[in-house]
Amino acid sequence: MPLPEPPFVSAHASDLVIARPEGLYCPPGDFFIDPWQPVERAVITHAHSDHARSGHRHYLAARPGAGVLLSRLPGIDLQTAGYGAQLNINGVTISLHPAGHVLGSAQVRLEHHGRVWVASGDYKLDNDPTCDAFEPVRCDTFITESTFGLPVYRWEPPQTVFDDIDSWWRHNASEGRASVLFCYSFGKAQRILAGVDAGIGPIFCHGAIASLNRAYRDAGVALSPVRFVSEIPIKDKAAFRAALIVAPPSAQGGAWMRRFGDYNDAFASGWMRLRGTRRRRGVDRGFVLSDHADWPGLQTAVRESGAERVIVTHGQVEPMVRWLREQGLQAAAFETQYGEDAVEADAIASEAQQAGIPLDSQSETSTPPVTRARQ
Ligand SMILES: [Zn+2]
Ligand SMILES: [Zn+2]
Repeated sequence: MPLPEPPFVSAHASDLVIARPEGLYCPPGDFFIDPWQPVERAVITHAHSDHARSGHRHYLAARPGAGVLLSRLPGIDLQTAGYGAQLNINGVTISLHPAGHVLGSAQVRLEHHGRVWVASGDYKLDNDPTCDAFEPVRCDTFITESTFGLPVYRWEPPQTVFDDIDSWWRHNASEGRASVLFCYSFGKAQRILAGVDAGIGPIFCHGAIASLNRAYRDAGVALSPVRFVSEIPIKDKAAFRAALIVAPPSAQGGAWMRRFGDYNDAFASGWMRLRGTRRRRGVDRGFVLSDHADWPGLQTAVRESGAERVIVTHGQVEPMVRWLREQGLQAAAFETQYGEDAVEADAIASEAQQAGIPLDSQSETSTPPVTRARQ
């Protein structure tokens, strides 16, 4: 579907964030936000690998996310700021505000000469006990993701999803079968460990999730106690009969799975909302649980920002830009390299491609308007 004219929105000289080859850049502040190429100074919205990359000289991130960030990028030069604390970088007032996405996730608020911009990174509005709740921040220009920016994406209340997971697990346990739940190892796994009913049976974790669990616990987030599969003697399948096993998608189909004897498996992801995704993933159950805003959530966030101009970074860029323009807002897109997290994107890319759904602006045939960097 064609977009309304004009096809391209040029950056204004007064813009607080522009797209550069290295990433999103704040010209007056001379720093980048979640850059994808090595830079001098990077403000990081959260520790997912498509937003927090290695190789920058200085990092700034929200304090609650320091542990997870350092567990993924050990040894970086990291400065942290508490949520809401104001810093001044080259005359730009910068503060970080909860994005509700994963532990330590932040929206970046920039203020310069009376103009206010907010770059939201990834975010969700749903309740999540493992991180601070999304905080609406008023601004003139709001930079938003659009991972699930289509009307089909509407989430059930999280408690409903956890009730479903619990009853699936309880049913499997009653039949003496292990329950293997695949999910993204950073964020989703901890949310599941905080949300399920640990009274049903023992919970085991794949080793890939261990260091992140530790970072969450060190930050004071309460997670159900977990054991490691490696603690169980190799032939002891009975130990898993009533167990929930939380594992990253990469463990699926591997030799590791043979440890559990008879099992039922499931996948927890927003992509499970798509008909056929569960079948293509080859799992018995799909639970629709996302750390991104659904379609109504994206709309609420845009509305509550009060912004007159909205720039979309990744996901369903074109439908979002179209919707924003229908609301009478100025809307355009930045070309970014977000949404390509090594683990999650693996799963997502294959789901979306097979479902014929474009992942980002680059993979769409009709490209949305892209805000160009100043020459
Ligand atoms: Zn993320
Ligand atoms: Zn992302």
